[in-house]
Amino acid sequence: MTDSNPDVELAKAAKRKKALKRRLFVYSAILGLIYGAFLFLPQQVDWNQKPIPNPNPKVDPDSRHLFSPGTRVLVVTAHPDDAEFYLGAGLVGLHEKGAEIRLVVCTNGDKGYYTRLFTNSERNAEVRQDEQLKASLQYGADVVFLGHPDGRLHKDEELVKEIKDQIARWHAEYVFCFDPEYPPKVSHQDHRRSGEAATEAAMQSPTVKWLLQFSTRAPNFGFDVSNWDLEIKMLSYHASQFHGKRLEMISNMVWENAQRDGEILGLGLAQGLRASRLDHS
Ligand SMILES: [Zn+2]
Repeated sequence: MTDSNPDVELAKAAKRKKALKRRLFVYSAILGLIYGAFLFLPQQVDWNQKPIPNPNPKVDPDSRHLFSPGTRVLVVTAHPDDAEFYLGAGLVGLHEKGAEIRLVVCTNGDKGYYTRLFTNSERNAEVRQDEQLKASLQYGADVVFLGHPDGRLHKDEELVKEIKDQIARWHAEYVFCFDPEYPPKVSHQDHRRSGEAATEAAMQSPTVKWLLQFSTRAPNFGFDVSNWDLEIKMLSYHASQFHGKRLEMISNMVWENAQRDGEILGLGLAQGLRASRLDHS
């Protein structure tokens, strides 16, 4: 039988404490890295989603006028490719009926904020803007790039004023933008900010009669997208973003959204929109 040696016991306790400290340091570093990556990524998570209005009746944004020659439509997006992802075939349909479309893209699409280390931001911007110009020829849009850096768009007075100026110059009657009120659970920060700025700008612009918000959880109107080949064609203009397996994955995502919105609206495949009449009185 041996008595425990107090010196040995003390040394063991000190060793255990050191190991615990080391473990705590490693765990905190891992958590810090995860949190850092979360802050760094441009995605925003909506932890507390606003409940969808119940009931959420269908609204007709005077579609006879919307789909008639000469109607002035202004579409505000965050990135080159958003218009095709959320509205592609719908915009072609509007153009075929004679609507005059202007597309305002808030950022330059360079992804500089989060891929600067891995990609050439200037080249990114050039390629993506060129792809946007080619895609928008399909719906005859006049395209304006506001040129804000991609990845951390700010909704400030400058952005609201820039969009208001575009609305005024285009005499826009219909404004399409991201829905900042009922966005998906995970969405791009730039989408949210461009939607907030465009919504505010539209509400302050007397020419705008209807606001149509896409990427929404609360659609009350929809564009028919039964011409699925056209939808894929529109997406494939953005070859730098969507090609091969990624085009397949993105197409599936768009298909699932179109099925979900179609089901909500009692249509086939649809691009869901939240239509609101703007009262400027
Ligand atoms: Zn985007």
